Amino acid sequence: MLKIAALEKLVHELSHLPGIGPKTAQRLAYYILKSPAEYSQHLTEALQRVQSEVHTCPECFNYTDAVICKYCEDPHRQSDVICVVEEPMDISRIEASGAFRGRFHVLHGAISPLEGVGPQQLKIKELLAKVNKGVAGDGPAIREVIMALDADLEGDTTVLYLTKQLQDKSVRISRIAHGIPIGSDIDYVDDRTMGRALENRVEL
Ligand SMILES: [Zn+2]
Repeated sequence: MLKIAALEKLVHELSHLPGIGPKTAQRLAYYILKSPAEYSQHLTEALQRVQSEVHTCPECFNYTDAVICKYCEDPHRQSDVICVVEEPMDISRIEASGAFRGRFHVLHGAISPLEGVGPQQLKIKELLAKVNKGVAGDGPAIREVIMALDADLEGDTTVLYLTKQLQDKSVRISRIAHGIPIGSDIDYVDDRTMGRALENRVEL
């Protein structure tokens, strides 16, 4: 690569993005440099706007540019069911299904001892506080907490931890089923998915 400090700095910053290795970062940096100057300007403005306008909702920790997010504000959504997700992006997946009309709670990650992420780094105490408030009558009573976490080690660990914490709060605790994708052939399903699908079988 050319030894140009400004270009190297751009490559360095881009290579921090998930899924972007040093080669892709270099390609992107050259692309930005080659593009008309307005593109760099628009990109800079977009980055600045996202930083100044977007923040987390104080209720559910979803991203929003309003005081509280649209899901927390909506009076037509059920306040007694909370769907717990790892990342704000997961909310749109659940919303797209049209199968859920309750509130959300974003943990901003999952417990991962290997990566040094413990319960205190996540929005777990805020979730427990919400449930406790309902128990004490200081907030809406929570009837059910649905865990919509990833089907991996971190997701499983987090579900286990939350289940233990919520055990004596008289709330129903459930986890979304993991199994065979719609339209797929069971010949191609991996062993772990098949195991989960069997565990989560439904009676007909
Ligand atoms: Zn919210």
